Amino acid sequence: MRIDVLTLFPEMFDGVFGASILGKARDKGIAELRAVNFRDYSNNKHNTVDDYPYGGGGGMVLKPEPMFAAVRDLVPAEGSKPRIILMCPQGETFTQHKAEELSKESHLVFVCGHYEGYDERIRTHLVTDEISIGDYVLTGGELPAMVVIDSVVRLLPGVLGNETSAITDSFSTGLLEYPHYTRPAVYEGMEVPDILLSGHHSNIEAWRREQSLLRTLARRPDLLDKAELTDKERRWIAERKRELELELELESKRNSST
Ligand code: SAM
Repeated sequence: MRIDVLTLFPEMFDGVFGASILGKARDKGIAELRAVNFRDYSNNKHNTVDDYPYGGGGGMVLKPEPMFAAVRDLVPAEGSKPRIILMCPQGETFTQHKAEELSKESHLVFVCGHYEGYDERIRTHLVTDEISIGDYVLTGGELPAMVVIDSVVRLLPGVLGNETSAITDSFSTGLLEYPHYTRPAVYEGMEVPDILLSGHHSNIEAWRREQSLLRTLARRPDLLDKAELTDKERRWIAERKRELELELELESKRNSST
């Protein structure tokens, strides 16, 4: 996969592209990662990339010319067209599902906004996707682009040492992941569940699935509606939900009587 990032601050990507999983993906030749300064595509003698907004108001707006010129330069004239992704707090909220979708592409171009925003024609006539990493506003699109790139690249075949670790990750299964434990079996009196020490693989798998369901019910019940569950699991989770509701009811009665 080739990934180009259009940014005014390419140096921000030096550490992120060179370390950990992204660094390994790059070294193995699985991902070609580049941060490109779109100021280099400015067509005026002062190399400006922003201007005052038409209609007045505070803040500067990124001009269309450098961004269009940079994308045209990076996109090959022939062959498959890359996804051009604008980082934008008004875009679709990023999810694991979107990461999986993007990981199937061969070329991604990320556009990082800055200042008050960017000329609307970039949104309407240049990009194919608009992604937000959450309902809050950051200074620029660099950190959001890093978040998206990291989650996409770790899904590329050959990047993670153990392929199954991405498959069982939270959200990949539609559920939150089960709890993990490692040695020692007892730490300051806190014990690892016996089942994990039993060596009985099918019982361990069943326990993990149950834990995954319970954790999702407790923390993100909204995910259960869309998750792939068997009828037996749906019935089991409905019972656990009733138990949880009863417990909460009892607790609130206890609290109101004291
Ligand atoms: N005035 C804009 C608005 O209200 O929508 C916010 C501009 S923000 C200060 C500058 C840039 O940071 C944006 O153009 C975008 O590229 C990036 N950005 C900020 N928050 C983001 C988020 N939650 N997700 C993705 N990109 C974000």
